[in-house]
Amino acid sequence: MKRILVTGGAGFLGSHLCDRLIEKGVRVICADNLFTGTKRNIEHLLNHPHFEFLQHDITLPLYIDVDSIYNLACPASPVHYQHDPVKTIKTNLYGAINMLDMAKQFKARILQSSTSEVYGDPTEHPQTEKYWGNVNPIGPRSCYDEGKRCAETLFFDYYRQYQLEIKVARIFNTYGPRMLPNDGRVVSNFIVQALKGENITIYGDGQQTRSFCYVDDLIDGLIQFMDSPADITGPINIGNPNEFTILELAEKILSLVGGKSTLTFHSLPVDDPQQRKPDITLAKTKLVWEPRVRLDDGLEETISYFKKILF
Ligand code: NAD
Ligand code: UDP
Repeated sequence: MKRILVTGGAGFLGSHLCDRLIEKGVRVICADNLFTGTKRNIEHLLNHPHFEFLQHDITLPLYIDVDSIYNLACPASPVHYQHDPVKTIKTNLYGAINMLDMAKQFKARILQSSTSEVYGDPTEHPQTEKYWGNVNPIGPRSCYDEGKRCAETLFFDYYRQYQLEIKVARIFNTYGPRMLPNDGRVVSNFIVQALKGENITIYGDGQQTRSFCYVDDLIDGLIQFMDSPADITGPINIGNPNEFTILELAEKILSLVGGKSTLTFHSLPVDDPQQRKPDITLAKTKLVWEPRVRLDDGLEETISYFKKILF
C-alpha cells in the first residue's frame, strides 16, 4: 500500500487532501504542529486504520519512509503568517529543506504548495507561470512571498542537483468548509460577518480583484499533478480563472446570506495586490485539469458550513 505524508494535514486544504487520499485507499501520515490547523478537521480520520497523526513542526528534521510527500505546512492567511514572520520564513525554508532531505533519503516524490503570492502585485495579467513577479522583498507580506519563492528555488535546486521528482503547484485563492472563522481571509470574513449581521469590512475601495477556487477543485488539481508523469515539474498554476472584484464578492455573499449587514470601507493593507487571475493553460494541457465548481455553488457550501459551526 502506498504511504503518503501530508504536512499541514490538519489545516484547511491539508485536511481535505487527507480525506481524498484515504478515499483513494492509501496510507496517510499527517504531520502538523497545529499552529493554524486543528484536530477537529481530522477528527473523523483519527481512528481510521490507514491514517496516522503526528504532531510535528517541519522546521525540525523528519525521516519517515514514504512514497510521496505533499508539503502544505505553512500558515496561509495574511493575519496568521504575519503574526510571527520569522517563524513563517523558517517554516518555508527549513521546512522545505527538511522535507526535501526526507524525499532525497527515501526517493519519494514531493509536491510543494506554492502560491500566487510569488507573483506579488503583478504587472502582467492574467499571470502565466513564465512571469517572474513583482514582489517587495522587505514588506510585511515578504516573509510569506519571499519564503515561498525561495522554497521554489530549493525545490528546483534539489531537482537539478539530486534528480528529485518534484512538483511545484502555484495555488490561487481557495475557499471552502474548514476555513477558520477568524483567519482574516476575505471569503471567511465576509461570510461570518454576513451571518452575524455585522458590517462587511472592505479594505480599500474594493476594486482589487481575486479569482476564487473551490476546495474540491483544488484538491483534484493537486492529486492530478502529483500523479502526473515525472517530467512534469511545474510550476503550474492551480486556481479558478474567473475574476471578481472584492466589492462583487461582498455583494454576492450578501445576496446569498440575506440579512442586513452594510458595507464599510477600511484602509488597504500594505502591498495588497491589485489584481489576481491565473492563466491555467498549463494545468489544462499538462494535467487535463480545470475547475468545475461555480462561485455561487461553492459559496453556498461554505455558508452552510459556517452556519453549522457558528450557530
Ligand atoms: P492553513 O493555515 O489552514 O493550513 C496550514 C497548516 O500548516 C495548518 O494545519 C498549520 O497548523 C500547519 N503548519 C504551519 N506551520 C507549520 C510547521 N512549522 N510545522 C508543521 N505544520 C505547520 O492554510 P491552508 O489554506 O490550508 O494552506 C495550505 C498550504 O497551501 C499552505 O502552504 C499555503 O501557503 C498554500 N496556499 C493556500 C492558499 C489558499 O488560498 N488556501 C493559496 C495559496 C497557497
Ligand atoms: N479583504 C477585504 N476585507 C477583508 C479581508 C480581505 O477587503 O475582511 C481583501 C484584501 O485586502 C485582499 C483580498 O480581500 O485585497 C483578498 O484577501 P485575502 O486575505 O483573502 O487573500 P490574499 O490577499 O492573500 O489574496
